[in-house]
Amino acid sequence: MRIYNSLSRTQEEFLPIEEGKVSMYTCGPTVYHFAHIGNLRTYTMEDVLEKYLRYVGYDVKRVMNITDVGHLSSDGDTGEDKMLKGAKREKKTVMQIAEFYTQAFFNDCKKLNIKMPDVIEPATNCIPEFIRMVEQLLEKGYAYEAGGNVYFDISKIEKYYVFGDFTEDDLEVGVRDSVEEDGNKRNKADFVLWFTKSKFEDQELKWDSPWGVGYPGWHIECSCIARKHLGEYLDIHCGGIDNAFPHHTNEIAQSESTFGHKWCNYWFHVHHLNTNSGKMSKSKGEFLTVSLLEERGYDPLVYRYFCMQSHYRRNLVFSWENLDNAKNAYEKLVAKVAALKPEGGVDSEKFELGKKKFTDALDNDLNTSLAVTALYDVFKLDTNDRTKLALIESFEEVLSLGLLAAAEKYSADKKSETASDVSPELLAYIEEKIEARRAAKAAKDYAAADAIRVELSERGITLIDTREGTKFKIEA
Ligand code: AMP
Ligand code: ZN
Repeated sequence: MRIYNSLSRTQEEFLPIEEGKVSMYTCGPTVYHFAHIGNLRTYTMEDVLEKYLRYVGYDVKRVMNITDVGHLSSDGDTGEDKMLKGAKREKKTVMQIAEFYTQAFFNDCKKLNIKMPDVIEPATNCIPEFIRMVEQLLEKGYAYEAGGNVYFDISKIEKYYVFGDFTEDDLEVGVRDSVEEDGNKRNKADFVLWFTKSKFEDQELKWDSPWGVGYPGWHIECSCIARKHLGEYLDIHCGGIDNAFPHHTNEIAQSESTFGHKWCNYWFHVHHLNTNSGKMSKSKGEFLTVSLLEERGYDPLVYRYFCMQSHYRRNLVFSWENLDNAKNAYEKLVAKVAALKPEGGVDSEKFELGKKKFTDALDNDLNTSLAVTALYDVFKLDTNDRTKLALIESFEEVLSLGLLAAAEKYSADKKSETASDVSPELLAYIEEKIEARRAAKAAKDYAAADAIRVELSERGITLIDTREGTKFKIEA
């Protein structure tokens, strides 16, 4: 598989450290509010990556943190604490907010068929791990204390701006007008490892530390949680593109300075979902959530399909019109799947042919839109429906569009629609025949029972024996 690595800014062959195994780390949500569908684009594409790695045979261990402390409104460690902001908004405690929005996040993930990571670790569970790394960084001379806080000194490392295009001016992004420069910093891009002189008098969550009572900075969380569960060498780290700087840049600075070697080989960044008016963000007040999509009558899996149609390294523009187009395409796809009859055996040659298109697409830097084309190509294959269904089932291990369940529902709805169109006279006639057939069968008069089936069949009525009794279908 070839994948774009943000670190080298090229596509590379994906080769994990240990044969057959992949260690994968994902920056989890900051749980001060609902996730917006932009956040969920990132998690959806990461889900496809994880599932594809499993599909091609890797044993993946995926770890995700939950940010429930330390993330300030600007990623450059200034502004208000996001969790505190959420607690104030809802007049609850920080932990109540964290619990509620963590649950809400995983509910959204479930609706989007996003698999749960193997390990989910809230930051507040790992305070000793954070303290240990900060101590190591101080010992090795990469960190300093100033004004009560502990900072990472970026001038102590050879190369800080590892992702290229960023400069310290990018730290201004997201900073509100009211934010003052932190005079304790030696370099503008230095970042906080541990806050003790809290800027927030009413900071709820505080822990004892060698530097006084305080709380961790946001970036240290991911370095330490990844180390706790995946060790000091990581295959792949994922996140949204806004995380590359400063968050991931800082993670690399901390981890590599602590370990004394390269930490993570591949960096996978998903580009943003934007609206016509710009980047989607929670701080802008109104934002799009999965619940809002549902309220407006969209199946969340239509949104997943919408995400699949574009490459993860391109910005994607959301509009209701674009979502409607995805909805129409998705519904047509479901109808096509529902029309397949599982007859015959799987033709393994044709199966491999169909599958190759799919793996070629995903091997090419996770090209999901080509993978969706490969899915459409299944219907054009010169083979039986059983083979087509087997291919769809196989692709669904990665795409997870819920096509088979939706097709089943589509067929069932169609059946009940047909039944409700029947005139009362015809319905009475069919029910009488069904009852007569049941009685004939009970009396072991199979010839009579068969004759009834034939009589109905001549009128275009098919009987279907189910566990709940005999149902019928009328040809349109
Ligand atoms: P947060 O909950 O703010 O920490 O963000 C969770 C994830 O969503 C991170 O990986 C972000 O990089 C990502 N993200 C934030 N905004 C967007 C967006 N508009 N489109 C796609 N991903 C985003
Ligand atoms: Zn992170």
